[in-house]
Amino acid sequence: MTNRRKELEENLRAVEAEIAPYSPTLIVVTKTYPLNDVEILKDLGADNFGENRSSEGLEKAAGVKATWHYQGEIQSKKIREILSWADCIHSLDSAAHAAKISRTLDESGEKVDAFLQLSLDGDPNRGGLAESDLLQLAEEVSKYPQINLLGLMSVPPVEYEVGKAFKEISLAHQRFNAHYPAAKFLSAGMSGDYLIALDHGATHIRIGSKILGARQYH
Ligand SMILES: *Cc1c(COP(=O)(O)O)cnc(C)c1O
Repeated sequence: MTNRRKELEENLRAVEAEIAPYSPTLIVVTKTYPLNDVEILKDLGADNFGENRSSEGLEKAAGVKATWHYQGEIQSKKIREILSWADCIHSLDSAAHAAKISRTLDESGEKVDAFLQLSLDGDPNRGGLAESDLLQLAEEVSKYPQINLLGLMSVPPVEYEVGKAFKEISLAHQRFNAHYPAAKFLSAGMSGDYLIALDHGATHIRIGSKILGARQYH
């Protein structure tokens, strides 16, 4: 067994053991790491992977069959490419993008799963919409049979205390879910805060560095 395989196995098993009581969907965020790591992780049983850059996702998804998630900022000109490899988009925050996704999928007859991205502080630089704008976007999205609305995704703003942030995220999701009963999933929690997110009802966690190691960029 190579050292890298051993390292990835130890890290993956440690996270799996911690999250087992919650049984969430574990998305292993492989951004910046090579295809070889994805192959090892897949062999170790991981079957959901996440990427922030479409070009990276395209390349890795071609090499490893799994459920692939896109969680980066959506650019209109990249939508066709994203849809060619991603099964689920976590960062939908625009009606124009939703319309384009729907049109693009309409040609192929395919569907995509999607989370709408909630921004707690409404800072447009980091993506996501304020809660007050989410319902309007959801109304648009729910018109498109090509988009399967799963729920909300959110990343706590750095200046927030994490427990407070996840509490707000969870409450916003509950209010949202009351309007959209099928949108019962919550994508929240990364390497530094996934247990707190799980305590606040996260159903999908996105873990990178805790499993693969510290990144040089992103
Ligand atoms: C990079 C990234 C992750 C994973 O981050 P880690 O801290 O390495 O676990 C999760 N979600 C998003 C949106 C990211 O950009």
